[in-house]
Amino acid sequence: MQYRTYNILPSFGTNTYLIWEENSKEAAIIDPAAPSQHMIDEIKTMNINLKYLISTHGHADHIGGNQFINDNFDVKKCIHKDDADLLIDPKKNLSAFWSPEIIAPKADVILNDGDIIKLGNEKIQIIHTPGHTQGGICLLTENLLFSGDTLFAEGIGRTDLPGGNYKTLINSIKTKLFVLEGDIKVLPGHGLDTTIEDEKVGNPFVGLIAR
Ligand SMILES: [Zn+2]
Ligand SMILES: [Zn+2]
Repeated sequence: MQYRTYNILPSFGTNTYLIWEENSKEAAIIDPAAPSQHMIDEIKTMNINLKYLISTHGHADHIGGNQFINDNFDVKKCIHKDDADLLIDPKKNLSAFWSPEIIAPKADVILNDGDIIKLGNEKIQIIHTPGHTQGGICLLTENLLFSGDTLFAEGIGRTDLPGGNYKTLINSIKTKLFVLEGDIKVLPGHGLDTTIEDEKVGNPFVGLIAR
């Protein structure tokens, strides 16, 4: 799987990822954070077939570009069932407090833990990792993990927002992510990339040094 990172909402530093499978050219966009004509234009010149828009969770800084993507491409919009209502509720997606208010298109595909989305012959596995939000997910494909706001390089997602729970988040990371191969590259929703092994050891919240 190939990927490219966009930083189209600098005020929040959200990472938007475009991923595609080389042979089929089938592609997905993960967390389009804001409307970006530049990104749209680039995707259109890449000779790829954008099939899916996948939201790691329903917060405004991850869904602000959903409408614009939906206007430009024939995408299936996917989110975990426990975050689906955040897409269409500005209070729940927090945009009511951050402005401008965001009402994203509703989901076409409701995801559950263990679901698979295919790009060509390659699989994206949905891993439900509640704790930052109730319906937060990570996406695993080959040796890449798109971790949303669940796990960051030397950090974890906030748990003080509605739907957040610290113990739940720690449990998600330990039981769902730290059981994966150590050399898997972690591509988070904010900040720099890391690996499972590096976070198992050095993460100050959930790694070995946290004990
Ligand atoms: Zn978030
Ligand atoms: Zn975020």
